[in-house]
Amino acid sequence: MQEQLSLRLKPAEANDESIVRAYISSAAGTDLKNISGFHLIKRSIDARSRQQVWINLTVRAFIGEPFIQRKANTIQFQDVSKATHKVIIVGAGPAGLFAALKLIEKGVQPILLERGKDVRARRRDLAQLNKEGIVNPESNYCFGEGGAGTYSDGKLYTRSTKRGDINRILQLLYQFGAEESVLYDAHPHIGTNKLPQIITAMREQIRNSGGIFLFEKKVTDLILSGDIIKGVKTADGDEMVADDIILATGHSARDIFQLLYDKQVQIDAKSFALGVRIEHHQQLIDSIQYHCVLRDDALPPASYGLVEQVNNRGVFSFCMCPGGIIAPAATNPEELVVNGWSPSKRNNPYANSGMVVQVEQADAIRFFEKRKDLHEQAKLFSLGNKDQWKDSPLLLMQFQSAIEKIAFAAGGGSFVAPAQRMADFCSDKHSSGLPECSYLPGVNSASLSAVLPDFVYKSLQGGFTAFGKKMRGYYTNEAIVVATESRTSSPVRIPRDAISLAHPQFHNLYPCGEGAGYAGGIVSAAMDGERVASRIIEKEK
Ligand SMILES: Cc1cc2nc3c(=O)[nH]c(=O)nc-3n(C[C@H](O)[C@H](O)[C@H](O)COP(=O)(O)OP(=O)(O)OC[C@H]3O[C@@H](n4cnc5c(N)ncnc54)[C@H](O)[C@@H]3O)c2cc1C
Repeated sequence: MQEQLSLRLKPAEANDESIVRAYISSAAGTDLKNISGFHLIKRSIDARSRQQVWINLTVRAFIGEPFIQRKANTIQFQDVSKATHKVIIVGAGPAGLFAALKLIEKGVQPILLERGKDVRARRRDLAQLNKEGIVNPESNYCFGEGGAGTYSDGKLYTRSTKRGDINRILQLLYQFGAEESVLYDAHPHIGTNKLPQIITAMREQIRNSGGIFLFEKKVTDLILSGDIIKGVKTADGDEMVADDIILATGHSARDIFQLLYDKQVQIDAKSFALGVRIEHHQQLIDSIQYHCVLRDDALPPASYGLVEQVNNRGVFSFCMCPGGIIAPAATNPEELVVNGWSPSKRNNPYANSGMVVQVEQADAIRFFEKRKDLHEQAKLFSLGNKDQWKDSPLLLMQFQSAIEKIAFAAGGGSFVAPAQRMADFCSDKHSSGLPECSYLPGVNSASLSAVLPDFVYKSLQGGFTAFGKKMRGYYTNEAIVVATESRTSSPVRIPRDAISLAHPQFHNLYPCGEGAGYAGGIVSAAMDGERVASRIIEKEK
């Protein structure tokens, strides 16, 4: 028989298969020799007790019957090379890739158009950005095969459980080469070093099944006719047509938002979050979270999630990367954006996390009313006459860009980031020297009160102080605050019908993923890609 059991073990015990079997035998009340094997169903860490960190395991034990190895639910793909139904997908991030795979599974041919390069060629552009401070606007941490998720921590956790089948996404990632642990860890992650192989395997599957996958194919125009979109034009002068178009261009494709605006395709402003990235020594985070001096080798580097209301604004940690590196995630020259990634082992000595504050349209209006110089620079009056700029759907995007430009200038150029020690940040004091930081282009001591808008700066000051009370030791001048974390989600929403998922003006245009405002992270973007593809397939029936 097979029995599902819950076990609570010490970390080293949980890593030792023979000990887990002994626990299973005791929990099932049967002799050890009757346990032929087990599958892990769930694994999570419980560090609430100050005395002992526990590992909670849910296992399916095989008792008195032969053990069967776990089989992946392998999803079969069709040959779509001769399919008559063709769908252009703009953007090969998680949303675009998973949409393409879903279409192929159901016999529809995807034509994936990606402005960036394949994962290997893209790596060279990232090296150039990190070492020489030169950004390629078409190939960077946000643009290129696999989208913003490729050179990330690869955290696969999402709260959007109702938006799709998370297990299916994890199964597919496993099918394309992710480790089995993604299927049972409570907070699975893949790591920057392993993601490119998985993305490559997906591309090969798409091409081997007869899907079309083109790189350095930047969409620059939409061919609109009445209430349909016929196709797209690309930067190299091609015109491509298809039955349906999925727009999955991510949160950084500002040229696409501008294009939609210019063509009077409805878009809406969307609030997003802005702030900084903070970095501590991983050892400090381990000691706080695991209540120890040094982390038990059997435990992974610790993570954290923090949230606080300060002056009626949410301040929260975002995309925490244990054992990670702070990365330059800008897509344009002279705009500074930071984000974070980790390798699969999360074995760098630092722990970084975004620390951000929610920003609304009214905040952007107040900001530009005060900063007339930036108002001019952002050409806000081109967004309408007199006060019309205040209602513009592109206002938050312009605000985001303005802050990134201020940060770039404060860093001193070449993507050197302005930074401050944490306690100095909270007392608005210039840091005379900075601690070591993982950010490769380098950091420059600067007063971040001159970089961030006042409401963001003050909210973060309050947030850091409060976080120091929640996690004793977190508030320290040995931590470094780096500006600016600004690409947390899209500052624009592309509307779509709740049932058909098509744009209200064009019944075969499907806004999708994070850039359209329907996802926030790898898994939710992948689920949204599947969802949109499924709707397109259902429409044909
Ligand atoms: C450094 C970093 C670390 C991250 N870490 C994590 C993490 O650990 N876990 C997590 O869940 N999320 C993480 N994220 C966020 C996550 O990557 C995104 O939420 C996710 O990739 C969004 O998926 P998407 O497909 O909607 O858009 P994107 O991934 O942004 O993909 C959009 C694609 O469209 C392409 N494109 C844009 N414009 C055009 C055009 N005009 N023509 C053709 N192609 C175009 C882009 O090149 C890009 O490849 C991280 C992001 C970054 C930058």
